[in-house]
Amino acid sequence: MNPLHYIQDFYFPRLCSACENTLTTYEKHICISCHLHLPKFKTEYFEDEFLARKFWGKINVKNTYSFLQFTKNGPVQHILHQLKYRNKPELAEYLGEWYGNDLKTKDFDKEIDLILGVPLHPEKKKRRGYNQADCFAKGLSIKLNVPREEDILIRTAFTETQTNKSRFKRFQNMEGVFEVPNPEAVRGKRIALVDDVLTTGATLEVAGAVLLASGCSELSILTIAAAL
Ligand SMILES: [Zn+2]
Repeated sequence: MNPLHYIQDFYFPRLCSACENTLTTYEKHICISCHLHLPKFKTEYFEDEFLARKFWGKINVKNTYSFLQFTKNGPVQHILHQLKYRNKPELAEYLGEWYGNDLKTKDFDKEIDLILGVPLHPEKKKRRGYNQADCFAKGLSIKLNVPREEDILIRTAFTETQTNKSRFKRFQNMEGVFEVPNPEAVRGKRIALVDDVLTTGATLEVAGAVLLASGCSELSILTIAAAL
């Protein structure tokens, strides 16, 4: 360990992105205690079906997996907030690598050919400086050894904030937002579509529908967090 890191940590303590306790020199982004105790989804159990149900009767999704369980004012909400507003692209990549390791033990890498992050509108990306879904996808791609692309699924129109809209209104608002300019790039591919958080599923549903209509053979959905 570079001795400079000790000095840096002394004068500018880094905080855990989940609980805000000071990180030790050897900890990265998330402290060891949160590593052990953050609420994770267990893909083998009913939670898997609970998430999948959000897409039943809407689009054909093979697997719906989420890494962490979101609870209001909990540590996972804190992580999502850091990703959105605190300029933490490396945190998203770090979470992707962590989850990628977990998924690799379940042989998920053998079930997909391509990883795509749900794109942000270019203006929003410019403002934030990065797309956290893409950064998470990058970490997953590294650990699963499955390619990730940024320009296959693109966002075409601006949508105003979704927070106060009903599911139907959100869906209406999203129509025509995503596009696959070159369908050859997805034809016959088993794709993992990745986003930061699964709430109503409206955004993932619209983006997923575009991929399926463009010839993607199998669609799975992966998110950093979802509420149970
Ligand atoms: Zn912590």
